[in-house]
Amino acid sequence: MRKPISLLISLILLLFLNATPSSATPKVFVNGQGVRFDVLPIVKNDVTLVPLRAIFQALGAQVNWDGTTQTIFAIKNGISVKLSIGEKIAYKDGKPVTLQEPARVIGGSTLVPLRFVSEAIGAGVAWDGTNQVVTITSGDSGSQSNTPVGTIKVHFLDVGQADSILVQFPNGQNMLVDAGNNDDGPAVVSYLKQQGIKKIDFLIGTHPHEDHIGGMDNVIQSFESGQVFMPRVTTTTKTFEDVLTALKAKGLKIITAKAGVTVFDQGNLKVNFVAPVGSSYDDLNNWSAVTRIQYGNIPFLLTGDAEAQSEGEMLNSGANLKADVLKVGHHGSSSSTSPAFLKAVAPKYAVISVGAGNDYGHPDKGTLAKLANAGVQVYRTDQDGTMVFTSNGNNITVEKLRSTVKPRAPDTNTVITPTAPIIPVAGGYIGNKNTKKFHLPSCSSLPSEGNRVYFKTRDDAIKAGYVPCKICNP
Ligand SMILES: [Zn+2]
Ligand SMILES: [Zn+2]
Repeated sequence: MRKPISLLISLILLLFLNATPSSATPKVFVNGQGVRFDVLPIVKNDVTLVPLRAIFQALGAQVNWDGTTQTIFAIKNGISVKLSIGEKIAYKDGKPVTLQEPARVIGGSTLVPLRFVSEAIGAGVAWDGTNQVVTITSGDSGSQSNTPVGTIKVHFLDVGQADSILVQFPNGQNMLVDAGNNDDGPAVVSYLKQQGIKKIDFLIGTHPHEDHIGGMDNVIQSFESGQVFMPRVTTTTKTFEDVLTALKAKGLKIITAKAGVTVFDQGNLKVNFVAPVGSSYDDLNNWSAVTRIQYGNIPFLLTGDAEAQSEGEMLNSGANLKADVLKVGHHGSSSSTSPAFLKAVAPKYAVISVGAGNDYGHPDKGTLAKLANAGVQVYRTDQDGTMVFTSNGNNITVEKLRSTVKPRAPDTNTVITPTAPIIPVAGGYIGNKNTKKFHLPSCSSLPSEGNRVYFKTRDDAIKAGYVPCKICNP
């Protein structure tokens, strides 16, 4: 059986070599659109090899070429493909796959096996031998074939009353900013795994509050991490200790996140910190590492829980704060998003990471009004679930995944109650009149001022019939 086929292939090859190329060169269609190649595809041992960039672009995948190791790395919808020149073992999501024909460099162009790369990233491939036509269906709706190579994806995970943001860079690297509350760790890990994440190249803990670094120990334990950034501030909470222990176990060191630090700068793609500007704050929130990402013409600003004081310092620092997408500071609290800061950022989109019916009354009515008056389109994790912002460097698309992390986004808008200013308490315990739970003042889920009752000692709280909070374990 093999002989006649190879004979046929030789014949085709012979035909291809002698006849005008267009008559014997396979034509490739992706989602009904013909793919134009600068270098013509070739058929070798029954395998069609096509130019690398053109095919991945047509398939809507991000592709990266490492000249030193002669390795091709492509990613689409979280599925990764790795091929090396002349190497018959390729990798799909890190698992080896044997190729009939390896990728080759021919006439200075890199050619890859068409069927393997297409099928690996989830496309269907049909071959019409009579007409020499390859039809590929990439399974994406719309004009995926027009998607430029290289998109950035920023996922705002719905982790309830907490923050967690995944950034997938066009070069296949990943960054995670915060990891939700303590009990969100496993859900964040599973979401990252669903996206095909193998390594967190850049891990950022904005500040040591539990609703930001709570799940970080799970993330550190579950993935390989590259560089870890946190502001230069410590707390004595168990949550913070857990993160330090997890980092130590993996031999990871913390790099100080502060204004002026550049995570990386690849020209077209840059990540840097614009806060904290100062070196001493009363409120941990103002220690928040504020990350600015710029891809092409599209900047993102991720502010953690930075409040008005830090916002003022960022403005005075003269740093570029302009962003098309703003992760609104401190869950939309009234303590953040000062008018001057909002004016400087001038976002088109704002994302508020907030839990439905939270005890703080976040987001603040006034903050929502400010954003609305500025013509900003607001997205909220409690209403929209997990959101993915995708950009090719020129425009942005928003996709709502409706709470794939936490099944708790309500169907209707939540009632927003104005919140009284939170009075800082030195020591003691804070009870919630509604839930009859008591908390440490440092707890991430303290009740709003109106629902609070203060206890001097733990015994006082227990005697009053209050039970310890499971998050802060007072
Ligand atoms: Zn927070
Ligand atoms: Zn905080």
